[in-house]
This record gives sequence, C-alpha cells and structure tokens, in this order.
Amino acid sequence: MIAEPDEQHVVWLDGEYRPWRDARLPLTAHHYGFGVFEGVRAYSTAAGTALFRLTEHTARLFRSAKILGMPLAERWAPAQLDDVQCELLRRNELRDAYVRPFVFYDGILGMRPSVEGLRLRVAVLALAWGSRAKPLRGLRLRCGALTRAGSNAMLFKAKANANYLSSMLALQDAQAAGADDVLLLDAGGYATEASGANIFAVRRGQLLTPMLESVLEGITRDTVLQLAAEAGITASAARLTREDLYTADELFLTGTASEIAPVVELDGRRIGCGETGEVTAQLRAAYAAEVTGKGRHVDWLQHIG
Ligand code: PMP
Repeated sequence: MIAEPDEQHVVWLDGEYRPWRDARLPLTAHHYGFGVFEGVRAYSTAAGTALFRLTEHTARLFRSAKILGMPLAERWAPAQLDDVQCELLRRNELRDAYVRPFVFYDGILGMRPSVEGLRLRVAVLALAWGSRAKPLRGLRLRCGALTRAGSNAMLFKAKANANYLSSMLALQDAQAAGADDVLLLDAGGYATEASGANIFAVRRGQLLTPMLESVLEGITRDTVLQLAAEAGITASAARLTREDLYTADELFLTGTASEIAPVVELDGRRIGCGETGEVTAQLRAAYAAEVTGKGRHVDWLQHIG
C-alpha cells in the first residue's frame, strides 16, 4: 500500500529538508527501540490534499514523547511539526499519502537514555499511498498466544517503537497460522487490540470496544465513537472476553492505515453472517465521507494549501 521512495524523494531530518538518500543516521540510532512515532494519512479531496486529524496525531506524538521522558517539547513545537508534514506533501507532490514522524535518540549504547550528549533526533517521512479502490475483504483474526503486558509493564498509551515488538511477534504467529491479523489478549484474557488497530464489536446494534487500559488511544477509535454518537448508535467501552467477540453480530478494526476494516472470522469462528455487517458498512461510509471532505467535520481536515 505504501510506495517506496525514489531518489528525488525529500524527507525532513532535524530541521532540514533533504533528499532521501542523504538522510543518514549513525548505527547506534534507534537502539533498544527507544523512540516514538506517528502514522498520519493524507487524502485527496475536492479542495486538494488534506491531512486527516493532524492536530490530534501531533498531540499524541508529544504525549508519547512525554510518557517516555523524551524532551521533544523542549526542541520543537507541535505547529512546527504540523507545518513540516504539510510541506513534505507539497515538496513530494503527494496526494493520497502516509506520513510518519518519528522521534528517537542517536547514540544509546548504555541503557541510560538521559545521559548527557545524547541527541534527540526528529524525522518525518511522507510516502505515496496506493489506490484506495481495492476490493473489500473481511479479515480473519486469531487470538495471540502472547499476552499483552499490563499498563504497569509497558506503556501502551505511548506510540512507542518497542511496544511493537509484541505486536509483530504475535502478528507473525497469527499469519503463520493462516490469519490476517492477531487479537492480543491481556493477562486476564480480555481483548486489547490488534497488531496495529483497535477493535470494536457490534451487539444488538450497539458498539462495544475495549477500555483504554493497555491499548493505544486510537484516533480512528475516537472518530468512530463520535460518528456513532452522531448516527444515534450507542457505544461504550467494556471488558470483552473472546467469547463476547465470537458471539458478536459484527466485528471491525479501526486504525489510520486500516480505516474501518470488517472482521469476518475470529479463531475459525464465523462472525455474524460472515460478511461486512450493516453497522460496520454505515460507519465505513461516514468515515469515507469525513476523510474526503464530504462530511460535517471540516475541522478534521488540514488542507496543505
Ligand atoms: N493500536 C495500535 C497498536 C496501533 O498501532 C494503531 C495504529 N496507530 C492503533 C491502535 C489505531 O490508532 P489510530 O486510529 O490512531 O491509527
């Protein structure tokens, strides 16, 4: 879905726009996975390219850095990083795109990231996003064998690099077993999230989603909750076991990359009628309208000018 950059592609590193091939880092950069990042989508709309909920993504990047104790706010202001993201889309003439800001240290060889002399590095990469017109296919999920650590073990509200180790290992296992994605359960057996997306269940027309205990505070999750409220659909956060999900009428994942993705199977059990459910389809349509500027929340779109 995300296109590889070509030689002319421009990226941003520590305040400078540079060609992709010149953005080099020391071997020690990113060591121990000590860093945070974001993933933002840009869409082409009738009024030009626009980033969806950019302010919220940048705010989460700063929260993630704060959770890890990284001095991002001392060096950059959110508005500066917003401008960089818009400018990269302009310079690379991108329309539908995926933008990834990341914040990390270079030079961690010991385990004390606060030692003097370590440099905080900030980079932004904006890549073309392939055509949106691919056929919709319901996802098959498996519950992961790996337990999602509790909030006193890992800091899952931070979109931190190292958090993705458990997601990626669990995804690898689920895919080896023939599934598309994994559902991570916590130590109590309650659903948390998929490898890179939040999960929702629909039961008797009402939405249920895991509480924000050890899951990322998804911006798409928040968008869906707002769109549901506007459509008169009741939604609540709850503790959900895998049986709750097996017997749901509909399941779907939400994420910046996956948008609203129907789930048709969990652990080999067919969910609902095994196709995209009515509520899922209704929310998908509302979401598609918002990201392309045809919805009511025009303030969710940051046009790049
Ligand atoms: N959980 C995880 C682990 C994720 O990586 C993502 C994607 N950022 C999400 C949830 C969904 O978050 P958002 O809707 O903000 O993309």
